[in-house]
Amino acid sequence: MTIVALPRAAGRIAIGDIDVQWLPEVIDKPYPAAFLFPDYTRAALDPHLAWLAPRFFDAAAERFILNTHSYVIRTRHRTIVVDTCLGNDKVRRRYAHLDRRRAPYLDDLRTMGVDPNAVDLVLCTHLHIDHVGWNTRLENGRWVPTFPNARYVFSRTEFEHAAREAKDEPQHSDGSFEDSVIPIVEAGRAEMIEGAHTITDGLTIEPTPGHTPGHVALALASRYANAVLIGDIVHNPVQYALPDWNSTFCLDAAQARRTRRALIERCADTGTVLLPAHFPAPTAGRIVSARGAFRFQELE
Ligand SMILES: [Zn+2]
Repeated sequence: MTIVALPRAAGRIAIGDIDVQWLPEVIDKPYPAAFLFPDYTRAALDPHLAWLAPRFFDAAAERFILNTHSYVIRTRHRTIVVDTCLGNDKVRRRYAHLDRRRAPYLDDLRTMGVDPNAVDLVLCTHLHIDHVGWNTRLENGRWVPTFPNARYVFSRTEFEHAAREAKDEPQHSDGSFEDSVIPIVEAGRAEMIEGAHTITDGLTIEPTPGHTPGHVALALASRYANAVLIGDIVHNPVQYALPDWNSTFCLDAAQARRTRRALIERCADTGTVLLPAHFPAPTAGRIVSARGAFRFQELE
């Protein structure tokens, strides 16, 4: 048996018979607190500081710590990639720090035992720039599907919103719709879904609008174990305690709060594992209530 080291800050758990791995492309990136959460005040955060710092919040610098992940879900018959991070070689004009970046993502994926050719399905929880990048890779000057044999599942609502935004306010997507979404449609690999959608036994895509109009979550259920891949419904576990804090990237403030509150109420104290797109290690955890507030609890 070959023992391979997981890439740094990657992780793996079993949800019943479903194997879940996560691979971070960006690790421990600090965001100024008041930028990430416009409602941020130190006074509101302080009662929760004991479990937030230092892993999720740098108290001295007043910065929240974020990763950016892909998840790889393996069932008996399927290999599914959820959210595809930033990608390599993408030309970014507005976000200069992302311009033509190169990360060892595909090498890391292979180290984790995932062959891009063997991926059956790719799901983007939404179509923001940091969730679509590895949909495509550059080959002979063209953007081709990174996972050539996969169906790519997009929410139709999300696709139509992203298409409108790319046309009317192109500064937000900064070319990502054109280089990471459109080539998938043109290659005939895209599948548009509406409403709730079952992928296969135990895997259900659920509409969770607010952060973006067509944001979806992916619920996993197997042998009495449950997990939810929650994308950007929350960016940092502080939002379990303070669910009215929207990120600066949430488009519909009232709907984002409703969706976040509903998620917390459904999952808190139930044992359901939450798998978010942006929490730093340990990343996976549960929501538990303690002293009148909800908090993150690391998996034992
Ligand atoms: Zn994101």
